[in-house]
Amino acid sequence: MYKGEARSAKQDSVGREELGKKRADVDGGERAGPSSRGNGSRDRERSAGGTAGAMRRSSATEARAGNFDKSTYPDDGEDSDTDSEESDVSGSDEEDTSWIAWFCSLKGNEFFCEVDDEYIQDDFNLSGLSSQVPYYDYALDLILDVESPNDDMLTEEQHEMVESAAEMLYGLIHVRYILTTRGMSAMLEKYKNVDFGRCPRVYCSGQPCLPMGQSDIPRTSTVKIYCPKCEDIYYPRSKYQGNIDGAYFGTTFPHLFLMTYSYIKPPKPTQSYVPRIFGFKLHSSAK
Ligand SMILES: [Zn+2]
Repeated sequence: MYKGEARSAKQDSVGREELGKKRADVDGGERAGPSSRGNGSRDRERSAGGTAGAMRRSSATEARAGNFDKSTYPDDGEDSDTDSEESDVSGSDEEDTSWIAWFCSLKGNEFFCEVDDEYIQDDFNLSGLSSQVPYYDYALDLILDVESPNDDMLTEEQHEMVESAAEMLYGLIHVRYILTTRGMSAMLEKYKNVDFGRCPRVYCSGQPCLPMGQSDIPRTSTVKIYCPKCEDIYYPRSKYQGNIDGAYFGTTFPHLFLMTYSYIKPPKPTQSYVPRIFGFKLHSSAK
């Protein structure tokens, strides 16, 4: 599935059409197969709790995998290719886990903070989202763990659409939430925990980064990390994280965050790399 060479040309232009195609690729390919429900190892693990919800959640993971073509993003070597998401969630406490906690615990979703139920239950905070997300009401119920009486009327395919929609809806709620006081405080905890990774630049000396998007429009580009020290952006190290939509973090977040918590803003780097040949700096005319 990996075609690293293709990434530069396609990395920021993942269109809806492509997504559909890729989802088919993913489902039929390295993932568990078209009837992913109930026969993958993850499904077995998650259904250990015996709930229908657990089964549904497994499929949501499959759907998420299709949101971006994994092959168009850099493979960092940090994660092995073999998927081991079952280690993220233990089957025994599945029934106690809310959809949000489950979703945030998935491999690749480490950048997301858990949005307060209260925030989601306030319609005002969700204004405008119902027109952006298909199966909006079902998706919202899924996020809030509300058992919907109409659930049984959906076909399997529709269920998968709802799961996929729930992830998108969560992302669109998340990008709003992390600009609120509570959301920012949740992200501060994650930042302190270095959940967003460190700047790969040598002279930034492992500076913790913040997640951000290059666009606020969904499906435009994947999430990047912003280094507050060198003030540049980078690909996340994990290829799983590299598949997350940047619009779920947005263009504003890291900058508003650093204004809010100005004490964490590091000083600019004092050192920068100087290219040398046989120990001599390159003369400006030679560059
Ligand atoms: Zn840096």
